[in-house]
Amino acid sequence: MQSVGIIGGGLAGLTLAIQLAQKGIETTLFEKKEYPFHRVCGEYIAIESWDFLERLGLSIQALELPIIKKLKVSAPNGAFLEQPMKTGGFGISRYTLDNLLAELAIKSGVKIIHESVENVDFQEKENFFILKTSTQTYSYKLVCGAFGKRSNLDIFLNRDFARATKNASKQFIGVKYHLQLDFPDDVIELHNFSGGYCGISKIEGDKYCLCYLSESQNLTKNNNSIAEMEKNILFQNPFLQKYFSEAQFLYEKPLTISQISFASKPMIENHILMLGDSAGMITPLCGNGMTMAMQASHLLHKYILSFLNGSINRNAMEQAYQKDWHNTFGLRMKIGRFLQNNLFGGTTTSNMAIGTLKYLPFVVQSLIKLTHGKPY
Ligand SMILES: Cc1cc2nc3c(=O)[nH]c(=O)nc-3n(C[C@H](O)[C@H](O)[C@H](O)COP(=O)(O)OP(=O)(O)OC[C@H]3O[C@@H](n4cnc5c(N)ncnc54)[C@H](O)[C@@H]3O)c2cc1C
Repeated sequence: MQSVGIIGGGLAGLTLAIQLAQKGIETTLFEKKEYPFHRVCGEYIAIESWDFLERLGLSIQALELPIIKKLKVSAPNGAFLEQPMKTGGFGISRYTLDNLLAELAIKSGVKIIHESVENVDFQEKENFFILKTSTQTYSYKLVCGAFGKRSNLDIFLNRDFARATKNASKQFIGVKYHLQLDFPDDVIELHNFSGGYCGISKIEGDKYCLCYLSESQNLTKNNNSIAEMEKNILFQNPFLQKYFSEAQFLYEKPLTISQISFASKPMIENHILMLGDSAGMITPLCGNGMTMAMQASHLLHKYILSFLNGSINRNAMEQAYQKDWHNTFGLRMKIGRFLQNNLFGGTTTSNMAIGTLKYLPFVVQSLIKLTHGKPY
């Protein structure tokens, strides 16, 4: 029997696998897609993750990535505020970052299996997991769930949020483009529109990532046409109208995802230890989801090592990880939900919020601080 099986090869799964393999633990990672591939993501990483990635063995410094130090936020009516960010972040596409991490994982000794996990069961009596793909069955002492915001496994595990969002009226979609544009290298801009917001910032090469989150009903109201929705809703914001008309788009069509949920989720399901978006998703406007995914792997790998070397039992490992996760991320998640629901929900609230926050730079700084953590 192998020690650890990790389901999902995004940032949470890859960084957990690398840390465990570097400590000599036999680790298998299941990722249903083949690297490299694009994902819907704003591709702005908070600077607090820089040292962690360097320590893993990824030379971020050598990639000469854009360093982002300023924030500009606009309301649907075009009113805007600008602020320097004390900490800031850097830009890199998920296409490049996940691929580099997958290469590092293999170099570190991780076995990557490119298959979708269909089900996973904990055998209470024997104290191990049986994990099945469509072609094979595996057994592990430990299984970690890093399968992202929405997966077939959420349904298999009968997770509350997956059942609830099936019928929920307020669902979100995510849309992403890579483009070329006359735009500053060191700024992240966040532009609000009715029922959503759109981020733009630089990534590697001479490219920019433009990514937005929108209530799904914006799309249904526009004949399920992304182009129509953009024209009728996003372009009400003068910044977005300008960028969409001036940019050179690098994909034939945008990358999209649907049924995004920000509901809270249990950290442990049937003894599977969840991390990254599988454990709960922070609203993208905070720009901290990728950092939380990687930082959770950093927290979790220590408890896994203690469990595997026999210093704590399964129950103690699960309790300690849950407690640590909530202490580290609980407040960030709450503030993210508050911001999304109260400040950026509707056109009027968003116009008023930006109009007011413009004159309260210290409040903006506090909000940025509350949605971020320290280097880990
Ligand atoms: C519109 C939008 C914009 C965002 N912008 C930012 C931003 O600018 N900065 C930021 O920090 N965060 C941002 N985020 C959040 C960030 O993208 C996520 O928090 C982060 O990707 C979570 O990583 P993860 O490893 O948990 O999941 P993912 O990166 O989603 O990886 C999950 C993986 O699991 C695989 N998988 C799923 N099911 C199975 C299965 N059954 N078997 C095998 N493999 C499976 C999937 O193929 C996928 O590769 C944004 C999110 C959205 C929606």
